[in-house]
Amino acid sequence: MGAWLLRGVKRYPGDPDRRYDLRIDGDRITSWSSLGQGDSTSARVIDLNNHWVLPAFVDSHIHLLYSMEHLDQHELAGLPVEAIVTSISNQNSGPRIGHGWKDPVPVHMNPDPRRFLDTVVSDDPVFLWNSDHHRALVNSEALRLAGVDTKSHTGIVIEQDAEEIWTAIPRVKKNYASDAARWLLGHGITAATTFDREESIRVLGQANSEGQLGIRIRHGFPEDLFSSALESGVDCSPVGEPQDPFAMPWVKIFVDGTLGSRTAWMKSDYSDDVGNVGVIRKSADDLERIARNAGQRGWALAIHAIGDAAVKEANRVISITRSVREQDLPDRIEHFQLADPEDLKQIRDTGTIASLQPCHLYQDREILDKRWGKRATHAFALRSIDAAGIPIVLGTDAPIESVDPWCDLDAAVHRLQRGRVGSCYSPGEKVPFSSAFHWRTAGAAKANFLPEGWGTLEPGTVADLQILAADQPQQVSCQREALLLDVYSLGSWRLGGIGESNES
Ligand SMILES: [Zn+2]
Repeated sequence: MGAWLLRGVKRYPGDPDRRYDLRIDGDRITSWSSLGQGDSTSARVIDLNNHWVLPAFVDSHIHLLYSMEHLDQHELAGLPVEAIVTSISNQNSGPRIGHGWKDPVPVHMNPDPRRFLDTVVSDDPVFLWNSDHHRALVNSEALRLAGVDTKSHTGIVIEQDAEEIWTAIPRVKKNYASDAARWLLGHGITAATTFDREESIRVLGQANSEGQLGIRIRHGFPEDLFSSALESGVDCSPVGEPQDPFAMPWVKIFVDGTLGSRTAWMKSDYSDDVGNVGVIRKSADDLERIARNAGQRGWALAIHAIGDAAVKEANRVISITRSVREQDLPDRIEHFQLADPEDLKQIRDTGTIASLQPCHLYQDREILDKRWGKRATHAFALRSIDAAGIPIVLGTDAPIESVDPWCDLDAAVHRLQRGRVGSCYSPGEKVPFSSAFHWRTAGAAKANFLPEGWGTLEPGTVADLQILAADQPQQVSCQREALLLDVYSLGSWRLGGIGESNES
């Protein structure tokens, strides 16, 4: 770690007409001085005339190692059945894993995708996730590995059943941790909260124990692991403190499914599926028990809830945890895609944080009206949630959506289709760029268990920052346009654009 004086920079958020000298010592911001006034004592001086210094981003909801694994899977989005068959038969051996098909089940595979897939691959498992990863098509071998009776099974699996089979399939486990960190840093991201399985906790916890990856990683602890640890009498406490490179403060619980699979739990029927209100993944009793156990042991909760009934229930569960826990910790509802406006006040009063992924609008806008009818006007209701006084944080849910933080912000600000075309979805819920940016930086620090002042770039706080050559940060609509020159985190430059990368 060294000292740096960045000369002549612009600061965002801030007055665009001012130029500063920014001094950094080690991993901290030291001072912002007027141009030419900065203290250069024992510092390396870099002339960055007119470039922007911005706080680096946090992605508040991502699947980090799975994003790396995803890159090696068969990409099935938009493919007809023949092309799906070609793709998986071109692989000679090993599990055939793919993702990206959209409901309904490809017509040629009906009525029995299992038998269809068996004709393509019979001696290795086939597992094909749909685009939201809550539903999958599998062959007999995949079912057998999970100990599921194949007889009269259609090969369509959803939610928990899909996950159990997924876990039973042997997959090549590469150490993706450093690839994942480089990938985040290349997008100006220096902190991420990831929700993955046991293997990910172990790999990331080790790989980043001393901040070797140059980022801060936050992890959720899957509820089934938490519950079975308690049953077997294992001490089960949250991991880490806000300043640590790795921390795991949340028990992660699923209350419902997704919009795409019509498994998000709704207060009333799906508009395109009368009689269906979605899936309730845990009984009220189970949830209360978990909430108490978690709270008493100092855990926060991160609860997956997409439908309006699920969001209300998640908040009730959070209020139980908060009532038995001594510490004030960031309890979050993940996705928060549809909340009944009537429930917002109670959610605010509980102290719950709303963790949304505006970029899901790019895909979901195509089905929101069909699935939820009039209720869909309250979907991804950023402005209403903010107006109700509920803290908001933003993420991408990558690999379900692109990790690009600027696309995510753009979705929140414009609510247009990808590439800023098409019509605006519920214009009343648009938010200013400054708000969206705040929810991915300073405003997301506490929610992601990051050091106090993270994302503010105020003197004395951590220097997690990015340097952009773009004209106006507010106008950037995707990563490419940001013209990211370098990222500074945990005391080093990371991309080699400025100074030496990974300087020790
Ligand atoms: Zn997710």
